[in-house]
Amino acid sequence: MQLAAAAACSCLAGCALPTVAEQRRIEKKAVDGSLARTTFGGLHRLGDGVYAFVATPFDSRGGKGDRRAHSNSGIIVGDEGILVVDALRTPGASAWLVAACHALTGRRPTHLVCTHFHFDHVGGVAGFVHQGKLPRVYQTRRTRDLVRDSYGEVVPKGEQGLLAQSSLQAFGGHYVEPTDIVIDGTEGLRIDLGRRTVNIREVSGHTESDLVVEVEDPRVVFTGDLVWNGIFPNFMSAHPERLGIAVRSLFQGEKRLMVPGHGLVGATDDDSLKNYADLLDAVELAAKQAYAKGIPAEQAGGSFQIPESLGAWKYFRPGFHETAFRKWYELLQEKG
Ligand SMILES: [Zn+2]
Repeated sequence: MQLAAAAACSCLAGCALPTVAEQRRIEKKAVDGSLARTTFGGLHRLGDGVYAFVATPFDSRGGKGDRRAHSNSGIIVGDEGILVVDALRTPGASAWLVAACHALTGRRPTHLVCTHFHFDHVGGVAGFVHQGKLPRVYQTRRTRDLVRDSYGEVVPKGEQGLLAQSSLQAFGGHYVEPTDIVIDGTEGLRIDLGRRTVNIREVSGHTESDLVVEVEDPRVVFTGDLVWNGIFPNFMSAHPERLGIAVRSLFQGEKRLMVPGHGLVGATDDDSLKNYADLLDAVELAAKQAYAKGIPAEQAGGSFQIPESLGAWKYFRPGFHETAFRKWYELLQEKG
C-alpha cells in the first residue's frame, strides 16, 4: 500500500473530483493520482469524508485484470462512525480497503452495507473482522436469504465462529452472516455516523433486492449494481423492467455524484452514465422487437449491437447480451 506517501498529497487537501475524461486517463495509468492504489483498484476522494474505491478489473488492453476486488465500494466518514458500502470479492481486497480507511482517518469501519447478494459484493466481509469482531453488517432479509441459497449450505467454522465454509470460496470469498437486517420495504434506514447521516433504501432490478446508499453533503449516491459505467451489465438475476424504473429514478433530481457498482465514478449528467440508461433502453427495444418477431433470445442477443453513439463497453465475460435478452424474454412470456 502506498497510502502513507499518498495521504500527504494535495488531493487530501481538497482537490475536486476528476472529470470522467480525466478519470479515463487516470485509469490508463493504473489510477495514478488516486489517494491509494493497488493492482485491483484505487481510492478516490469525492468530498469531505466521502471516498470511492474504484476497482480496476481489466488489464491495460481491456482483458482480464486483477479481480480480487472486482466491484466498487465506498467509505463514508462521520465523527463517530465510518460506513463502508460493499465488501468487494475477497477478504484480501477488503482488508486493503480497511487498512486504507485506517490510514486516512485513524479509525476502522463501524458499519458495512452489502448492496446485494452477488459474490463480488459479499465475498470480502471477513476482511472486516478485527480482533474477532465484525462491524455492524447490513443486508436486506432477502439478500441474506439469496446469499444462503446461492452459495450453498453454510457451516460455521474458524476463529470466533465468524468464518464459514461455503461455495463463496470458489470465488475467493468467505460467507459471513450479516449482523443487522435493513428494514425491508420502502421505509429504508437512516444511520447517524455523527455529524453525517447516511440514507439506505431498498429497491430492486439488478436483483430481487438492491440497496442504494445516499449521502447529502457532498451529494453522492452509491448505486450498487443498479448502475454500470462502461461495462455491460450482468442481467443474470435481473428484473429488467424494474431495473429500468430504478435507474431512471436514480438520475432524477438535483445533479449528484454517482458511484456505480462497476466502472468509473461520474456526475449524474455525465454522458457516460447517461449512456448506461440509454443502453438499457436500447436493449429493451431490441429484445421486444425480436420477441415479437419470434427470433430466439440467444440469436437476437448474439446479434445485438450497441449503438455507436453510446460509446465503447467492456465485458466481464462473453454472453452478457444473450443473458439480457433471455431475461427480457422471460418477463415478456410471463406477461403473455
Ligand atoms: Zn451484482
